[in-house]
Amino acid sequence: MFVETLIIGNGFAGRTVAHGLTGPCLIVERGEKFNIFERRARFNAMEKADRHDALIRRSYESVHAFNMPEELPPDCASDYILVDGGCSNHWGGLSFRLSASMFDQTADGFRWPFDFQTLQPHYRNAERLLRISADPRDPDERNSLSEIQGTHRWHQALSPYFPQAYIGAQAHNLSVENLDGQGLCMGAGDCELCPMDAKTRSLHIRNNAQVMNEVLVDHLRFEDGKAVEAICQTPKGPLSIRFNRVVIAAHGVESLKLLWKSNLPPQTPKAFIGRYCQDHAVAELACHLPKAKIPFFQVNTAAQVVIPELSGELDGIEYTTLGLMTSASNAALAGALDLKKMNSWAVQESVEELAGTLSLYILLEIPPQWDVSLFYEGGAVRMDTDGYHGNKHRYDAVIAAIYAKMEALGVLPVREAEQAHYQNAFGTHHLVGMLNMSAGDNAVVDKDFRVKGTENVYVAGSSLFPRCGSRNPTVTVVALALMLANTLNERA
Ligand SMILES: Cc1cc2nc3c(=O)[nH]c(=O)nc-3n(C[C@H](O)[C@H](O)[C@H](O)COP(=O)(O)OP(=O)(O)OC[C@H]3O[C@@H](n4cnc5c(N)ncnc54)[C@H](O)[C@@H]3O)c2cc1C
Repeated sequence: MFVETLIIGNGFAGRTVAHGLTGPCLIVERGEKFNIFERRARFNAMEKADRHDALIRRSYESVHAFNMPEELPPDCASDYILVDGGCSNHWGGLSFRLSASMFDQTADGFRWPFDFQTLQPHYRNAERLLRISADPRDPDERNSLSEIQGTHRWHQALSPYFPQAYIGAQAHNLSVENLDGQGLCMGAGDCELCPMDAKTRSLHIRNNAQVMNEVLVDHLRFEDGKAVEAICQTPKGPLSIRFNRVVIAAHGVESLKLLWKSNLPPQTPKAFIGRYCQDHAVAELACHLPKAKIPFFQVNTAAQVVIPELSGELDGIEYTTLGLMTSASNAALAGALDLKKMNSWAVQESVEELAGTLSLYILLEIPPQWDVSLFYEGGAVRMDTDGYHGNKHRYDAVIAAIYAKMEALGVLPVREAEQAHYQNAFGTHHLVGMLNMSAGDNAVVDKDFRVKGTENVYVAGSSLFPRCGSRNPTVTVVALALMLANTLNERA
């Protein structure tokens, strides 16, 4: 079999490249086709003894033994799934652009090869493709399809303390026009396996590409600098696909593995494959806003509120504070309860005051300089997390800075509710970096998305990011995939 352009992976990255390409292409995808409502039914039928997120993940398991994800170490809480469309089914839909400051690095090794402005038009197209809905107060002026309704209630409640707060953009379909098969968000929660199929998934990205499912690309065969053949495994036996050019969009770990297993040309900088892995570490905090009545459950989508006043960068670590829009945790409520008032029988007043308690989720950057890395040994992917553990104490200062910011704004920290998850593990399923396209000599991929030393191997996905910061990656993955499609069209 021969194809002009072969794309490996049918997630957002691969599917968006196919969407933007003008010439013929074939997508190969190791995962089987599935029906999202059948998976939801499977989840509903499960014994609910395990954690909710673990059950959702099990609902997405592939039927094929060859679709087992790599086992990452216990101090990395991230994972991924391998059914048709991959993590782009499982994601939560919270949609950010990266901060502009991520593009202002001075060190070449962690600097993007283009500036933030170059990416802007692609971000705008990506936001349309993902059917983003946004808060009109969103400072990134998103190119959204619709507004999140009910945002003014949140602005009103939070503005005495956090006047810049806004509801994070969502790839949850809130528009009744041109649904194109996608469901409508009713704010039911459970975005990771949406009962209405309202969250945008990769399979909602329209294109005319042919997709061959249940085809696992094991490795590429190179003749000198040119990759000529994908050696594949299928349930019916081995398969070989020849091509003119190939786009690897197999996501974080799997894109690397495929390269590690290939006879790469000598000019490809193998030593840098797997380096500078980024993800996010997390802390959960809580605070009390005196006299506020927070309007929980009063927007038409499951969402998080971004609090710029409690976000920023310290010691090279970008951090983003999200307010949870579901009622505060028990620990936060217990910590915020005024026991003196309660004991003096002002029961109603002290309970009513709890309406000002907010749980917070802090996304903490793992800077690329900490050099968490992946490598391939004994037929499996391994991770070196020493750089993380040697540096994680720096997050303590970030948390202290967030508390100090709260106090300066008249917000009361509820320290009893603090959960410094970062002390034990990191990971929010954001497998970023590892095939970086930096402006430095450590780049594995050049500014045209081509693996260095090769003539015709391109990469799409979050593994390209030289620096991610504390923002979720997917809008950037889609924007870069559009940019790559343009580059390939120009070359053709
Ligand atoms: C639980 C969870 C929540 C998340 N929430 C958010 C969020 O709120 N906001 C956000 O921005 N991001 C979020 N993410 C991250 C988001 O899912 C990813 O950034 C995005 O889906 C990546 O798209 P992709 O196409 O690169 O990878 P994928 O969607 O995983 O696609 C890769 C595809 O390649 C296939 N594949 C892999 N190896 C091979 C091979 N060798 N041969 C053939 N096919 C192969 C896989 O089966 C898969 O279908 C979340 C992720 C998870 C898991």
